[in-house]
Order: sequence, then structure tokens, then C-alpha cells
Amino acid sequence: MSNSTLFLREDIEAREVESLAPYACFSCKSKGREYAEKDDTQRTCFQRDRDRIIHCNAYRRLKGKTQVFVAHHGDHFRNRLTHTLEVAQLARDFTRNLRGNEDLAETIALCHDLGHTPFGHAGQQAMQELLHRYGYFFEHNLQSRRVVEVLEKKSPHYPGLNVSFEVRDGLMKHRETSGEYTVQKQGTLEAQVVDMSDHIAYQNHDIDDGLRAGIFTLEEIAKLEIWQQAASITTPYQNEKLWVSQVISSLIKIMANDLLTETASRLKNIEPQTNEDIQNAAYPVVSFSQEMEQKNDSLKHFLYSKFYRQPQVMQQSERGMGVIKRIFFTILEKPNLLPDEFYAMISPETPKEIVIKDFIAGMTDRFALDFVDTL
Ligand code: MG
Repeated sequence: MSNSTLFLREDIEAREVESLAPYACFSCKSKGREYAEKDDTQRTCFQRDRDRIIHCNAYRRLKGKTQVFVAHHGDHFRNRLTHTLEVAQLARDFTRNLRGNEDLAETIALCHDLGHTPFGHAGQQAMQELLHRYGYFFEHNLQSRRVVEVLEKKSPHYPGLNVSFEVRDGLMKHRETSGEYTVQKQGTLEAQVVDMSDHIAYQNHDIDDGLRAGIFTLEEIAKLEIWQQAASITTPYQNEKLWVSQVISSLIKIMANDLLTETASRLKNIEPQTNEDIQNAAYPVVSFSQEMEQKNDSLKHFLYSKFYRQPQVMQQSERGMGVIKRIFFTILEKPNLLPDEFYAMISPETPKEIVIKDFIAGMTDRFALDFVDTL
């Protein structure tokens, strides 16, 4: 056990047991790693997983991947790295409020988008269409899992990053069926928090980016009930820039309050005693209220029609999709265009379509654009 000067892993584990809710994921009760490793002296397993994520190549490449592929790339638009940091920050705060394990939530947040293709939503769509054609499927959550389990190579002892079970499990989309994959259980509290933090983060930053790029106007979004609600608790209008950032901040506050209130009441109803109880519940515990869910749906529809489906964005999306398809088909014809480490992965269990998918999904936007120029 520890000496009195240092606060070591066992102390941190003991503090978790003392201070977190009984349904939190305790690091001392982790189901462990696929390849056994000795525990660290200073850090819990989830802290160690987080460090592995931020030191991996796929994490650094997030900065070169766009969320929504917008024509006017400027210094203030989000990329997947800044999005990831926003998700991690929300997830840490919510998890702390809910007395869950912050380190686990942060770790899941930091790797939740590692498997995302270049060119945002459009890239994912192109990849889905391509793989479907050959009898496979693509889902970025599953690809994130593949990155941490297989594709990252950091150790001579195991493939991937050998992160804890709870982190890998947290990357599954528990609320929806994706491709052939159906998940029966709910996620842990920490995984559910990340899922909702992801929604809150992207909706709010897409509003900000959409307005900044001039793809929709303040007058248009001001027609939404949820925007009006946020505006009503915001300090007086001075100029558009300040106003937008203040209203978005109110919007996040409203969503955060609703999420915490609704989740607290669901926790009261379910009375979970362990994290298994949360996973076996008939419905997710971390959730918006029904009223907020409806307002949120209108916001989703707004962003879909006034942002993602607007000609300026669609044009860029189509360009991105075209790049991905051209790379895919060209390498399918000539697999030796793959870098050696990818080429070596082709086997009866991992057909070339899958390896090409792995190679393309890992690309940044810039790398894909440069690569297609060499073909
Ligand atoms: Mg995300």
C-alpha cells in the first residue's frame, strides 16, 4: 500500500470506492485487458488507457479530419480533435455530477471518433456504400474499436492498445443497431454519458460553424423553440458574434441541466446497485427528458436541412465521397498501392476490401486529397 507522501493507484482506487456511486465502473473491478499486464503503480487502469489513447497515431490524425466538410476552411472551424476535446470535457463534468468514473468517461470520449473516415459524414456514407457492395459494412464506432484493438501498433506484445474491457465496450453504440451488429444491453453510465455528450457537443458546434460559414442565418435558427428558450435567458444583444456565442452557451446549459435532472430521476426510479443494473435496465438512464428530446429533434432536422444538405456543403461532401471511392476502387485493382504494413494484413480472414477500408478510414482529409492526386 502507499506511503503517506504519495497518492498511488491503490489510494485512487480506494477513493473511487468511497466516493463514487455504487453503479459507477470502479477501476479496481475492471474486467481487465485482453493481454494480461501488470498494474501500474501510480495510475488506475482507466488513467493508463487514456494515456495510451492520447499517445497513439490515430488520435493525432483527428486534427486533420473535418466534422462537416465545409468549403471555407478557416482557423475557427471544428475538426475531429477539437470535437473530441469538447465531448471529453462535457463527459467529465456530467460524470462527476452523476458520481460515475470520470477517468473512464474521458477515455471513452477521447477514442470515440478514432475510427472516423476523412471528410466527415460524407466520408462515412461513401465507405458504407462501398463496403455494402462487397457484403461488408462500415460503422465508425466499430472502426474506433478496431483501431484500439488491432490497427494501432505500439507494443511487441500485443496488437492494438490493449485497453480495458470497459473502454472497448464503451465504444459500441448501444442505442441502435448498426449493420449486422445488435447490442442487447445498455452501455455503462460512463458510456451513456459519452454518447449524450457527443450529441450535445456536435449540435452546438455545428450551429456555431454553420452560422460562421454563413450557411444559415441567425433569423432562420431563431425560429426554433429551443433557440428562443436559450435566447430568453441570455444577456442583452450587443452584436451578432457575441450574441451567438452567448446563446450557444445558454443552449448547452439548458441541455446539460435537462440531462442531469432527467438522469437523476431515472436513477431514482431504477435504483441501480451496480453497473450491471444500469446495463440491464430496460431503457438508458442517461437521457434528455421527453420534452427536450422533442426540441432536440427539431434542432436535428434544422441542421440536417439548413446545414448538411445545403448546396455548399453537399458539393464538398460529394467531392469527398468521390475521392474515397476513387482511392478504394483503384487500390482494389492494384492492392500493391497499399503501404507495406497494410498489404501484409491481407489474409483469408481479412480480405483486401477490409484492409483498404482500414487504410482509407485512417486517412486525414489532406492525406486523402494528396493520395488521390498520385493515382
Ligand atoms: Mg463524435
